Amino acid sequence: MSRKLRVAIVGAGPAGVYAADILTKSEVPAPFEGASVDLIERDPTPFGLIRYGVAPDHPRIKEIVKALKRVMANEDIRFFGNVSFGDDLKLDDLRQFYDAVVFATGARRDRDLDLPGIDLDGSHGAADFVYWYDGHPDVERDWPFQPHQESVAVLGVGNVGLDVSRILAKTAEELLVTEIPDNVYEGLKKNVAKDVHVFARRGPAQVKFTPMELRELSHSPTIDVIVHPEGFELDEGSLEAIRAAKSQKLVVDVLQNYLAKEPSGAPHRIHIHFCQNPVEILGEDGKVVGLRTEVTELDGTGNVRGTGEFQEWPVQAVYRAIGYYSDNLPGLPFDVTAGVVPNDGGRVIEIDGSALPGVYVTGWIKRGPVGLIGHTKSDAAQTISMLIDDAPGLEQAAQPDPEAVDAYLGSRGLEYTTWEGWEKLDAHELGLGEAHEHERERVKVVPREDMVRIARS
Ligand code: NAP
Repeated sequence: MSRKLRVAIVGAGPAGVYAADILTKSEVPAPFEGASVDLIERDPTPFGLIRYGVAPDHPRIKEIVKALKRVMANEDIRFFGNVSFGDDLKLDDLRQFYDAVVFATGARRDRDLDLPGIDLDGSHGAADFVYWYDGHPDVERDWPFQPHQESVAVLGVGNVGLDVSRILAKTAEELLVTEIPDNVYEGLKKNVAKDVHVFARRGPAQVKFTPMELRELSHSPTIDVIVHPEGFELDEGSLEAIRAAKSQKLVVDVLQNYLAKEPSGAPHRIHIHFCQNPVEILGEDGKVVGLRTEVTELDGTGNVRGTGEFQEWPVQAVYRAIGYYSDNLPGLPFDVTAGVVPNDGGRVIEIDGSALPGVYVTGWIKRGPVGLIGHTKSDAAQTISMLIDDAPGLEQAAQPDPEAVDAYLGSRGLEYTTWEGWEKLDAHELGLGEAHEHERERVKVVPREDMVRIARS
């Protein structure tokens, strides 16, 4: 008798949910008839980086949740939150219940930056700051803002650098209309940053910003965006980059507009500096007191070389936003340099090139931490098509009955959350927002035990 193909997808962020959607809508070859998916998620809530990565003042991006919720209405897709792969469940456990396992675990931490002074007080990774302002349960509730930190540096000119700079330059009051948790609002009141200096080690045509996000930087009445003319150069490689990609030309146009604009006298300023390569974070008594950069120059190809000229910037905190990095997954190979699980179009392969049958990856753990949320769809389509091609030859699960999973998690005493549980927590957070004196759309619950209690009530 045929049955549904049973697949575990580890990670219920956009990459995992898109993969579940595509798989359950696909034709699955014999001996299976259709597919059913369990999303296994470490957080008690679904949606991964939409909840814990997208900045709170980006409600437009958070709207993607509506589409993901429609996917989750499919009864062939279940959600098991608060279950940690590696701690609560290992690959061998999953293999008992599923014919295939797809990892969509993303990239959750900051890429290392080997810079003297990186461990000083006041030197932070962007991912940690993002987790804090997005109210992730596993991080400290207080952010260590200090009363002397009026000038801060942000290293890296990608969209995370923009998010971090914007949140640092905005006032707590401006952010109160968003879904930030109470502890974040209280914390942001202690932020005294007036000047946020963003450093690009290359030129304006090499930044990784996207045009809309860059334009939006000036939408706050409390912020002036100041692009500094030093290093604002376009070499032949830059001109080629602009010709090749319309979005890169738009980015340079927006930067040029900022460059030409007189500051309005707003209380907070975001400065963007080009051709400044950070070489050292300067400290005194263990605390950040400055940043040292080497001035660079474009070499004609869009890359830069050092000039041997150095500058010191008096800043009291440094946030590095130089890219994310994925966690190593127990039982799976890992490419430390690229920070991904080695794979061929989504099929996991061992370091020696041999296949790890029935195990797949999609999203940032597959291709590295680049690209917008929408890009994970085509990525998921590729991975799922591989899985479907492989389906007839997969080693079948010993216990394919979906109820066996509930029984197993229950027998292990794991306090997992379900989709119904998430709906309860969602309603609770929306209710908190409505009841708030400022009638906010949502107020996030932060402690894990509170989330789990509400979801399981
Ligand atoms: P990213 O786009 O890769 O940008 C990283 C930046 O760090 C680059 O400017 C890079 O410069 C710089 N960098 C790397 N190593 C450095 C070093 N040693 N010293 C100085 N600078 C260094 O990464 P991201 O900002 O983390 O974003 C990740 C992805 O998420 C991107 O695709 C992004 O668009 C997306 N995202 C989107 C939004 C949104 O609102 N739409 C928000 C957040 C993130 P080089 O180019 O010179 O290496």
